[in-house]
Amino acid sequence: MADIIRLLSDTVANQIAAGEVIQRPASAVKELMENAVDAGARRIHLVLKDAGKTLIQIVDDGCGMSETDARLCFERHATSKLRAIDDLFALRTMGFRGEALASVASVAQVELRTRPHGEEVGFRVLVEGGQHRAQDQIATAEGTSISVRNLFYNVPARRNFLKSDPVEFRHVQEEFIRVALAHPEIHFEFHHNDNQVFDLRPGNLRQRIAGVFGKLYNERLVPVEEETSIVRVEGYVGKPEFAKKSRGEQYFYVNGRFIKDPYLHHAVNAAFDSLLPGDAYPSYWLRLQVDPASIDVNIHPTKTEIKFSYDKDIYAILRSAVKRAIGRFSVAPSLDFEQEPSFEVPLAKLDQIPRQPEIRINPNYNPFRTGEEPKRFEVGSVRSTPDRAETRQWLHMHREETTIRQSESLIIPSAETSEQRLLRIFEDLDDFRFVHVGQGIASASHPEGLVLIHLAGARERVLYEDNLRYLSSKPAVSQQQLFPVQVQFNPNDYLVVCELLPELQKLGFDLAEFGGNTLVVQGRPAELDAGDESSVLHELVERFKQQTRDSATLPVHERLARSFARTRVQRQRSPFASREIRQLAIDLLHCEEPFAGLSGEVLLRSFDSNQLQNLIQPNRSTQHA
Ligand code: ADP
Ligand code: MG
Repeated sequence: MADIIRLLSDTVANQIAAGEVIQRPASAVKELMENAVDAGARRIHLVLKDAGKTLIQIVDDGCGMSETDARLCFERHATSKLRAIDDLFALRTMGFRGEALASVASVAQVELRTRPHGEEVGFRVLVEGGQHRAQDQIATAEGTSISVRNLFYNVPARRNFLKSDPVEFRHVQEEFIRVALAHPEIHFEFHHNDNQVFDLRPGNLRQRIAGVFGKLYNERLVPVEEETSIVRVEGYVGKPEFAKKSRGEQYFYVNGRFIKDPYLHHAVNAAFDSLLPGDAYPSYWLRLQVDPASIDVNIHPTKTEIKFSYDKDIYAILRSAVKRAIGRFSVAPSLDFEQEPSFEVPLAKLDQIPRQPEIRINPNYNPFRTGEEPKRFEVGSVRSTPDRAETRQWLHMHREETTIRQSESLIIPSAETSEQRLLRIFEDLDDFRFVHVGQGIASASHPEGLVLIHLAGARERVLYEDNLRYLSSKPAVSQQQLFPVQVQFNPNDYLVVCELLPELQKLGFDLAEFGGNTLVVQGRPAELDAGDESSVLHELVERFKQQTRDSATLPVHERLARSFARTRVQRQRSPFASREIRQLAIDLLHCEEPFAGLSGEVLLRSFDSNQLQNLIQPNRSTQHA
């Protein structure tokens, strides 16, 4: 019989190996970003075209590569990070197998430009389908830039297997977020088809989370910290009332590496226990530091799974750390958490000492944020439930806590900012005269000066934050219809509205499917007038689709809350009576973000008497408005 066994060529072997490491644009992005992190970059820029199918480029300002290294790095098993097998258990880097660049280069057209710090010239290497095409000296910035063009151009089966651009983009974005969250100290930028997706400035973890998920998250985080001899845990969990109905905001890092670990996930879930409704998932961003010798990271091609030597202990420590963190930051009396002891340093049961908020000094004190819930200006509104007041109180207490405990928090200004000044002068509301001056602007005059209020913007902000709360914690009150109305949609809109049914329910719409692209409205949000259901729903769907086109990256809740707020503002006459403006001002000051409108407009602007003088007699003093 003839000999039939043959050694695979390097190219084919690499393509096969690539299948494990590089499945889609997102996997290439992950590997390249991790290389940039390993290279000590302070700034990493990701540029994509067509969700990465046409181009993935990563530019970093890391250590760069020498000429020889630049040539060698595309070889299989070429790595600077590992020499002997023992090194595997002392790893401080993300990479170690020397596989990624070889894999990427075997299935794409790759251009590497690199220059080590301090060198005069840089070096460029072109590799196509695993074959070296060219190399030369070039002028280039310090650091490394790798462009990956036409991924899988030579493996049609894989290329065809790729999903639509939006789907692939979502995967890339998720990988980007995972790396960006692991390294808040690094400046990350991300452009897709010339649009900026993220510009994340260096900061701490809290700031990074807010940068990625939105500023509102700053108020939703509970810090977790625990230090024991086998693991150090730090990071944040989301407050229970902001838990999501879908998985997603769940991030574990072990020694800087993002991992998926159902066992540890279970530990966090267990800590939340009865605080979450059955169908909600807690959010968390937790970093674990362990001795590299106590884990094995080499058990999965994408390195997202880890074997721990002390998994049971880590489970218990994590669960207890999260549980205590939630307990310490909860002030709602209904949260009956049994106190678990800390593992090695028993913690004083501080949280069980009754609080005496009145002897605390709070520089941000504002009478509108505590006490009795003010009534909305819609007469007969059913929105102001006692629960809502509780929530407010809760938020306020937490704001105090945050101010005192979290010196790193974004919301702590050092001197009195113009915003704090506004909060301070608004404390004495009795001295205010509210007047609608036309063009959707109201003025509020007081002995110290004048405040201008953007009425529509303010109202939109208030409604939007209400909506977010309805969607995430306390559903709105629905008013049953005396005569249920049918609303018909076009097929596309019908799909959109059906996908949103659970959310619309929380906003107060009681809807049932009727067939023929038609819904029956059995209940409507209490503030809507009867007869408006159909037009409001159509307008809402329209705005939602527009939001989705404009900012697909925003979570559904965010988009829907915005759309519904805008829909209602557009339909409502402006509040004219001073009583109504005054109530709007109070509601606005209750907001998480009272100063900025949803589209960035200024909602409140104050002028003190000096500034007003200056407007009238510009030469009188040098002060500027
Ligand atoms: P690994 O990361 O497992 O070592 P890779 O194939 O990802 O393997 O990279 C091979 C080598 O190329 C790395 O070990 C490193 O020395 C070098 N390298 C890759 N990317 C960069 C970069 N952005 N900056 C500097 N060196 C890099
Ligand atoms: Mg690597």
